[in-house]
Amino acid sequence: MLEIRHLGKTYGSGERATRAVGDVDLTVTEGELVCVVGPSGCGKTTLLKCIGGLLRPTSGEVVLRGRRVTDPPEEMALVFQDYSRSLMPWTSVRNNVLLPLRHKKLARAERSRLVEEALDAVGLTRFIDHYPWQLSGGMQQRVAIARALAYQPSILLMDEPFASVDAQTRGDLEDLVLSVRERFGVTIVFVTHDIDESVYLADRIAVLTHAPTEVKELIAVDLPSPRDQIATKELPDFARLRAHVYRLIKRERPAAGDLADEEALAATRAET
Ligand code: ADP
Ligand code: MG
Repeated sequence: MLEIRHLGKTYGSGERATRAVGDVDLTVTEGELVCVVGPSGCGKTTLLKCIGGLLRPTSGEVVLRGRRVTDPPEEMALVFQDYSRSLMPWTSVRNNVLLPLRHKKLARAERSRLVEEALDAVGLTRFIDHYPWQLSGGMQQRVAIARALAYQPSILLMDEPFASVDAQTRGDLEDLVLSVRERFGVTIVFVTHDIDESVYLADRIAVLTHAPTEVKELIAVDLPSPRDQIATKELPDFARLRAHVYRLIKRERPAAGDLADEEALAATRAET
């Protein structure tokens, strides 16, 4: 469905040039949820913006259903980390979800139905006439997800969407992503720097190197579905995958290079 071929992106030129994405190859199949993990600053956002047609790659190409991406494709939707900037504070939840649909040729009743169905999917039916600022951070991010869903994308790009919500809400939002994937059959590319989150959500994980980034390893996550915040995370396979991804990323972080693997692992456990 989505092919990323020899993608490279350099910002600026000459002495000021920053090579963010080196050479990324990745194929995502229909209905798949691929998590992209990598150290901070390695080029994850840059890669996602290139996939979404928001940035023009310096080399290589992105092909969606056989067509090269040059502008944001109609069948794609994006959810970013910063929901507070992505929602319009002066209008209702309903209108926030409705707005992108104005670009689609739809009957008025059909638009309303899509908005209501999307808000139902994220559990916010009761808040349809509230303003975004009347909602908690986690609820605002659910509005952003509803807005993306109402648009009926076949592919959803998410850039660290839950990085700024508390742990409990984050778990709920992760489960929401898995349930909307089931319900809407949408293909998802999910960027995160959180290793547990990547293992919990993904069908496959693409682990990235430092900038200029490349895919260091592609990992199939063969954990049973549906996933469960407690039972899945207790599985020995979950711990094995988590440790594996952690080691790959740790080797990408020079500052942590002198920590023993076990020590470093213990440190992340303490953090989470
Ligand atoms: P990540 O999302 O993995 O943290 P980014 O894609 O945001 O990484 O950034 C990758 C590299 O590109 C970083 O070195 C960053 O400073 C640089 N970068 C990001 N955006 C720009 C920009 N608009 N202009 C110049 N450099 C940028
Ligand atoms: Mg980023």
